[in-house]
Amino acid sequence: MIHETNKDLTSFNTFGIKAITEHFTVIQNKFDLYDAEIQPNSFILGGGSNVLITKPQYDVIYMKNRGIFIEKEKPKNVILRAEAGEIWDNFVKFCVEHDFYGAENLSLIPGTVGAAPIQNIGAYGAEVKDIIEAVEVFDIETKNYYIINNRKCDFGYRSSIFKTKLKSKVVVSCVFFNLSKVKKFNLQYGDLKNLHDKHDLTLEDVRNEVIRIRTTKLPDTKEYGNSGSFFKNAVVDKKKFNELLNKYPEMPHFNAEGGIKIPTAWLIDKSGMKGYREANVGVFPNQPLVIVNYGGATAEDILKLSDLVEQKVFENFGIRIEKEVNLIN
Ligand code: NAP
Repeated sequence: MIHETNKDLTSFNTFGIKAITEHFTVIQNKFDLYDAEIQPNSFILGGGSNVLITKPQYDVIYMKNRGIFIEKEKPKNVILRAEAGEIWDNFVKFCVEHDFYGAENLSLIPGTVGAAPIQNIGAYGAEVKDIIEAVEVFDIETKNYYIINNRKCDFGYRSSIFKTKLKSKVVVSCVFFNLSKVKKFNLQYGDLKNLHDKHDLTLEDVRNEVIRIRTTKLPDTKEYGNSGSFFKNAVVDKKKFNELLNKYPEMPHFNAEGGIKIPTAWLIDKSGMKGYREANVGVFPNQPLVIVNYGGATAEDILKLSDLVEQKVFENFGIRIEKEVNLIN
């Protein structure tokens, strides 16, 4: 465990927002959690890829415990354990290199393994809940480690028990995954459909295609600060959907849990905000779900722009879009 004081967090959040923390504790091994004096209001930091830090912090716990281990191997599947601070994409790469099926569509998602179950990361028709066996957590109050099985994690769209009932109560210490050794791909999403015809398709082909698409559409955080999707997709009821479809017959839509999903990127685009820029912040032209720090922006600048986007979508469609990014106050 390493402890520092008055640490600048600029390079620890992909938005590149400057914020100072009084205490900065680096967890190098999950048992460090026991000795770190974690408080319910400590900010648990992984890759910093889905956060907007709005204020100076008092206490940051930086998860840097890494490692991927094969726990149990059977003829048809394998159980893996990955430490919470492991880089998510290293985990996907490990699975692809070992011919374990199920993580490949989630290639190149920024962040850490420990953050993956918290917001149930997803892309191209796959969600991490589909490959999670269980999550091990450290209870901040009792200082005990315990395991929560998948079905008890209350996984939903970009949500889980770790964002609700267990928020500020536990720290994810490691995650157990169940991957298939039997060849099967998930190519239902439009962008991946061109892989259908590929002869002898491999996990590496899928990973390479996902990486190719993501790097074309999404801004590189090294070039422009951003947090991936800033907003969640909208889900509306049948009445609202029919009303909108009458007006916009071309509107993309998909059945989803709790209603009909309308891509928020489309709503933002149709509201005239795609590519909109104000000084050093903007809505990314290739993917309007992403808000970009073009250099030197503050959290306030970003929130001001996101408020404007939310307002424009509401004025045009009567839909209140929600933020996917976590605001760290
Ligand atoms: P896209 O392929 O242009 O599709 C636009 C939206 O339509 C997506 O948000 C997706 O919803 C939905 N969609 C497309 N095909 C669908 C299908 N067959 N069934 C159900 N819903 C469908 O999306 P994109 O912006 O390039 O992103 C591709 C994938 O990467 C998406 O799954 C997206 O969620 C994911 N992604 C996540 C982040 C993040 O930061 N969380 C950032 C970039 C991309 P879903 O979003 O529900 O899949």
